[in-house]
Amino acid sequence: MRKQVIAGNWKMNKTHREAEDFIQTVKNEVPSAEQVESVVCAPFPFLQKLVEETEGTSVEIGAQNMHFEESGAFTGEVSPVMLKELGVSYVVLGHSERREIFKETDEDVNKKAHAAFKHDLTPIVCVGESLEQREADQTMDVVEAQVKKALEGLTEDQIKQVIIAYEPIWAIGTGRTATSEQANEVCTHIRKVVADFASADAAEAVRIQYGGSVKPANVDELLSQSDIDGALVGGASLEADSFLKLVEAGKHE
Ligand code: PGA
Repeated sequence: MRKQVIAGNWKMNKTHREAEDFIQTVKNEVPSAEQVESVVCAPFPFLQKLVEETEGTSVEIGAQNMHFEESGAFTGEVSPVMLKELGVSYVVLGHSERREIFKETDEDVNKKAHAAFKHDLTPIVCVGESLEQREADQTMDVVEAQVKKALEGLTEDQIKQVIIAYEPIWAIGTGRTATSEQANEVCTHIRKVVADFASADAAEAVRIQYGGSVKPANVDELLSQSDIDGALVGGASLEADSFLKLVEAGKHE
């Protein structure tokens, strides 16, 4: 059985003080890591503190982006080596905001996925269609192309460890959640793509999250779907109480 992974994506939110208050509240309250993976993906300046605060607890810390190179003349960027050194264990790659606002390409995402594995970071690879693409009935093709490109050149073993986050762009931050059937339909397709691209074993192992206006009120229904193995959550991950409800929903005995 695949373990659910609930990841909060704080985006560019919180002060240092707020980050600290959040982590103090949740760090000893989340279920055990055997029951559910609880991940907080925070802005770079908070990572070191959050890693220190969560040592020995079941909360894991992730970054929201990184460069694929280890060092060099890339002003303003952060490398996988730096993240690893801090004790970060996950990294979100190719979030639609990075793709849309910062013009990240599928090729960048693929390079970053390779860099993540080289430095022992678990990548959470985001894919998803725009409203225009959904209305033009291109969802499956768009998502399939993004998944294949992101995974290109990874070993079967690495693909088993990737977390894929299916996030329809029209559902992010809009309050407009995909129905659980819509979400599961695409996640099932992604699993099939992984089966054809890698192997049936890899498809069985890979975790696929849904993201886009997930909140305590809809998380149970989404997580009960056959091919949804967790959630990547923006807005509803910012408050400790809400985050705790989400991870609780992902728990299995
Ligand atoms: P949201 O964001 O939960 O606020 O819709 C999800 C995301 O962007 O990962």
